[in-house]
Amino acid sequence: MAKYGLLVFPERCTGCTACNIACASHNQLGLDVSYNRLEFLEKGTYPYVKMEILPVQCQHCDNAPCVSVCPTQATYKREDGIVEIDADKCIGCKYCMAACPYEARQLNEKRVPEKCRWCPEMLEKGEQPACSATCMNEVRLFGDLEDPNSQLNKELAKHEVYQLLEAKGTKPSIFYVKK
Ligand code: SF4
Ligand code: SF4
Repeated sequence: MAKYGLLVFPERCTGCTACNIACASHNQLGLDVSYNRLEFLEKGTYPYVKMEILPVQCQHCDNAPCVSVCPTQATYKREDGIVEIDADKCIGCKYCMAACPYEARQLNEKRVPEKCRWCPEMLEKGEQPACSATCMNEVRLFGDLEDPNSQLNKELAKHEVYQLLEAKGTKPSIFYVKK
């Protein structure tokens, strides 16, 4: 069984928002909803400043607070690592939104706190999630963490990486290459 993960190369991101558009199109999202966000961070001290763009989405945490607080098990972790939500079981309590330290969830028109699902319908067809498939600069490398020969593991071995809010103990499945 695969265990999915993602390696992000922030330095390659130009902020073109093609990933956001692909995400919105694939998930049929409204204009004010996005499961992807680009954080524009100012780094350095004037006059030696530069802009860093950090793509952020659901981290598919192994120790996901959204899963542990959900009173109906609507949010659950699949064996392949994807954190999913069963909209039929969701009672709209929004505990998961409050528990997520990454602000990854957005209420949809049915008041269900949705988020990135790594496009499982595309994975079933052997394709990449929409955001990874669309990005011209190959900012997101999606793959199988369990496969020692996966491109993802080869690139992980080559780079120094970090995870977002590591101190929270959420064990994200997304890694970021250090600059
Ligand atoms: S993986 Fe799919 S759902 Fe997640 S951000 Fe990308 S397009 Fe959106
Ligand atoms: S990033 Fe937030 S929504 Fe995604 S699995 Fe972690 S706690 Fe849950």
